[in-house]
Formats: sequence, structure tokens, C-alpha cells
Amino acid sequence: MNWKPKGLLGIMLALLLILGGCAQPGSKTGPAENRLNVVATTTMLADLSGVIGGEHVAVSGLMGPGIDPHLYQAGAGDVTLMQQADVVVYNGLHLEGKMGEIFESLSGQGHAVICLEAGLDEAKLLRWDGGGSVYDPHIWFNVSLWQEAARIVAEGFSQADPGNTPAYQANLANYLRELEALDAYIRARAAELPAEQRVLVTAHDAFNYFGNAYGFEVRGLQGISTDAEAGTADVSALADFIAERKIKAIFVESSVPPKTIQALQAAVRAKGFDVAIGGELYSDSLGGENSGAQTYILTVRANIDAIVEALQ
Ligand SMILES: [Zn+2]
Repeated sequence: MNWKPKGLLGIMLALLLILGGCAQPGSKTGPAENRLNVVATTTMLADLSGVIGGEHVAVSGLMGPGIDPHLYQAGAGDVTLMQQADVVVYNGLHLEGKMGEIFESLSGQGHAVICLEAGLDEAKLLRWDGGGSVYDPHIWFNVSLWQEAARIVAEGFSQADPGNTPAYQANLANYLRELEALDAYIRARAAELPAEQRVLVTAHDAFNYFGNAYGFEVRGLQGISTDAEAGTADVSALADFIAERKIKAIFVESSVPPKTIQALQAAVRAKGFDVAIGGELYSDSLGGENSGAQTYILTVRANIDAIVEALQ
């Protein structure tokens, strides 16, 4: 950044940047035999924390499967959990849209946090106009960005618990290889579809990183956050697009009520074209316990399988 603070406004700006940004992880003090007590906001981050931390961490996730992080309000119990944690792991980029003040207060108290937003290379983020964020928060659908996330979490755990750094680094190395294989799997499956059939229409704009990384055109009915209703003009414009392009299927999402996508299907039918609902994609949450998609890797595989099968 190239600006210099000038006068009171400059100082206020600088303060805002400090308060609004993500703090660096602090150091953990305490007996080395204790597991690192980690609280993660989303199901994706709870999974990642467990993979990287292995036996050296105890992970609590705040949001369960199917919970929408844009709308999630932390309760008093959540705040206590975060205050008592050794490290709090969160996405940032305004994903946890109602929790900003809590993160600011944790950082202000010098609490150790790992915030992906603070560690990611801005050049790799997709811009987003509106919705409270400059950047699109749904970074997990580009597997190479999730590899960056894994590095950030491993670095944060190592700083918080230096004694177990070799274990965190070994878990990271293994996981990066698994993610490499996952990335190759998505590319191979996407290649089964002709380029003009790679169009993904969903309830909200969660899949831009996915589309950008794997060559899909992406249209969402709502903006980047689910904290906005799709208007009838949006529905009608998207219905035109689907009918003109003869897109075979549109998708519901596990963390968004299906009514908006059902309304879109009806609007397409009214225009004389029959579009299928191509099953449920996981967007802002992993699958539940018996879904077969309870980890990040299984979730991403389930999504690409559902997409390719419906659009073929
Ligand atoms: Zn979202």
C-alpha cells in the first residue's frame, strides 16, 4: 500500500484497517501435552483444522452442516467458546457476515486467530461488487486456493503451538497431495462435458471460484450473499438465458432454501423450455454425517459428480 496517513483522518483510517483486518496468530502458553483448543466457524474450516491438526488439536465447529454462514448469528455460547479457545479459525472476506464485531473484539483483545483473508494473496481473489465485501468469499471451490488455506492453517497452528510444528507440517504435506489429486479429478470430470455445456446455474453466487478454476460459466440467482432476495426481474432474465442456451439442469444448494431455484424452474417452463433440477450441490457447508460428503474432499467430489451427471 502506497498511501501515507495524513492528520486525524489518516489515523482513523489506519485504526480502521487494524481493527477491520485480521490479526496474526499469537502464541499459546500452557502445558505442551494439552491439545490445542481450536474453534472454527464453518464446516469447511472445522474439517481443515482437524486434518492439519490431527491428534494435536481438539476442534469445535460453530456452524453445522446445512447452516448458511452469511446469515449465521453467533450466540452467547459461541462467543464464550471463541474466547476460551487457543485459536479461532475463520474465513473472513465477509463470509461470516454477522460476526465481524466478534472477530474485531477477539483481535482487539490479542486473541490468537487464523483468518484466511489475512493470509491469502489478493491477486488470486475474485473481485466482487457489492454485498459488503470487495472480494468473493467462496474461496474453497478452487482447490488450489484451499491448498493455500491449508498452508495458512498449518502456519497458524505452528505459531500457536511451536512444539508440534513437525506434525502440522507433515499433515500439511500429506493433505496438499490429496488436494492435488482432487484437483486432477475435477479437471478430468469437467472434461467429460463439451465446453458449451459447462454452465452452472445455482441459487446464489457461490461457485465463481469453481467456474474460474475449472472452466464453467456461472450464474447465480442471488448475489454473493444469501442475505438478499432475488427479484422477479432477476428470475426472468436468468430464465431467458436458460431457455435460449437450452441448459439441461439448474441446481439447488444444501445451505439455501430450494424455493428460489424452483421459482426459476417454473419461469423457464413458462417460456416453453423444460429445465431439470440437477440435484443438490453443497455450497457454503459440507455434507452431514451420513451424507457421504462429510469432508471437504468428499463434498467437492460429490459436487462435480452431480454437475457432470446433470449437464451431460
Ligand atoms: Zn455463499
